[in-house]
Amino acid sequence: MSASRDEILQELGLWPVWRLREPPAADAFADSAGIPPARQDRGTVAGGAPALHAREAGAGVSSALPLDARAAEIACMDWPQLQASVAGCTACPLHKGRNKTVFGVGDEQAEWLFIGEGPGADEDAKGEPFVGQAGKLLDNMLAAIALKRGKNVYIANVVKCRPPGNRNPEPLEVAQCEPYLHRQIDLLRPKLIVALGKVAAVNLLKREASVASLRGKVLAYQGTPMIVTYHPAYLLRSLPEKAKAWEDLCFAVDTMRDLQSRAAAPI
Ligand code: URA
Repeated sequence: MSASRDEILQELGLWPVWRLREPPAADAFADSAGIPPARQDRGTVAGGAPALHAREAGAGVSSALPLDARAAEIACMDWPQLQASVAGCTACPLHKGRNKTVFGVGDEQAEWLFIGEGPGADEDAKGEPFVGQAGKLLDNMLAAIALKRGKNVYIANVVKCRPPGNRNPEPLEVAQCEPYLHRQIDLLRPKLIVALGKVAAVNLLKREASVASLRGKVLAYQGTPMIVTYHPAYLLRSLPEKAKAWEDLCFAVDTMRDLQSRAAAPI
């Protein structure tokens, strides 16, 4: 381990470093039926998706469409169409209070997809996910496992507009926004999703559960393997949980290695 990585881990309060001795939980992969074949054409690093002001976008899908028809339209979009549609979206009340939509950012060929709950004030102002204090911690967490925002990593949220006062997104808001996340996942085809925090995990899994009960398992979202860890904002308030987050990151790395070796194995 290099000195700089030691420093990062110490900064995170994740010291001394330890690794899981136990293999993945017995129900690992239990939910992961239907995982799409690994993508072969990785490598090019595309720039982060720029967030657009609503007024800059011309291509919002009509919010008058029933949800299924809207989802079907969104499911056919390419990246630029999707970005324009998000930027112009008025499908739920969150659009009324936003400054900028927060589409997502990163490498469009990424194997890793990190999903948070929704933009806060900093993200709403900048149009990019995880740019406040929690974002700094997320960047440090990525660095601790030799990852970097924008390089084999994509970061998105369950909802693309800031809920007022940073409240949790409502079910209707999540439902209207979910086709965008589905399309992002279809276009990205990540190998592993990391759900950040309870709100993201519960909305993705569509069932009530604690982060404590979901950690250490390989679950699935839309056929993509998914693991759950604590939200960086929660970790900022609950320092003792940082050690558990480190454990989760190690588990994520092991899971990714496993997925990569499965993809590389001859059929
Ligand atoms: N919290 C989130 O869940 N997402 C962000 O983009 C920022 C903070």
